[in-house]
Amino acid sequence: MIIVLKPLSNQSTIDRLTRRLEELGMKPHVIVGVERTVIAATGKEQEGTQAELEGDTDVEKVLPILAPYKIASRETRKEPTVVQTGSLTIGGGTIGVIAGPCSVEGEAEILEIARLVKAAGATALRGGAFKPRTSPYAFQGMKERGLELLAAAREATGLAVVTEVMTPHHVELVARYADVLQIGARNMQNYHLLQAVGEQRKPVLLKRGPSATIEEFLLAAEYILDQGNLQVILCERGIRTFETHTRFTLPLATVPYLREKTHLPIVVDPSHGTGIASLVPSMSAASVACGADGLIIEVHQNPAKAVSDAAQTLNPAQFEATLATCRKVATALGKSM
Ligand code: PEP
Ligand code: MN
Repeated sequence: MIIVLKPLSNQSTIDRLTRRLEELGMKPHVIVGVERTVIAATGKEQEGTQAELEGDTDVEKVLPILAPYKIASRETRKEPTVVQTGSLTIGGGTIGVIAGPCSVEGEAEILEIARLVKAAGATALRGGAFKPRTSPYAFQGMKERGLELLAAAREATGLAVVTEVMTPHHVELVARYADVLQIGARNMQNYHLLQAVGEQRKPVLLKRGPSATIEEFLLAAEYILDQGNLQVILCERGIRTFETHTRFTLPLATVPYLREKTHLPIVVDPSHGTGIASLVPSMSAASVACGADGLIIEVHQNPAKAVSDAAQTLNPAQFEATLATCRKVATALGKSM
């Protein structure tokens, strides 16, 4: 349920109500809005709880949350959630651009591409140090050394770092180096991993599983939010369909649909979504046109030599041209990029 507090409620009121909700066996999540504060209470509701809260002098009203995802729902928070960390802002009219190679490949390579994507307009650097590969024989990433190199690239360029974490055991390690923790598509329903990134306080970029419904996607986000981490970025990266002309099928209606259902910012990954570099510029512009709050794009100084996902990777000039088009679309929509 959502407990809407009267305007100008103070901290001692919030503390008193959250303590009471805990006594009643519920989990309170305080959501501070521009106009008023609400407390989203999750967990099993006892008989009489609603009536008690409705009678409280500091409570304006108590509403049920109809959606299965509670904290992620628009019902809980009307204003968009904006995620801001270092150079990266996503949401609330600002389009974030996360770019870089699929995998961190070496020191010189990551420093060079970080400088190139920054010059082209990226606002964050991506690069996998722990790589979830379909084959166990494929390159698995540079692991901790890769994280160190990402941190060095941030030091050199000022770009915030987005990188994947694959297991709960590595959350603390990855969080030490990264600004945003990426949960890969293959791990969208790894509930222990979702809880582990929910327990730490860095933002999380959650990729949609290739066969997950939107409801499953939002419930996965809810696992993170329920642990108290409200900085979740949703990422549409394409789903598996009968179609084979592209690597995945990129369903852009996801963006305006999610916008109606959730306050969380929404990013599109046209690189994995298509698997084909020549399609990435158009689908990036289309993503901005349908309201995406950000893009995550694979860029490499020499895509043909990229150790992973070469076929979908742009070179820096193609990336720069893509952003120039996207910026025109963003301007037409009154957004900044
Ligand atoms: C990636 O971003 O390189 C990646 C592995 O993406 P996904 O989890 O969407 O396949
Ligand atoms: Mn990739």
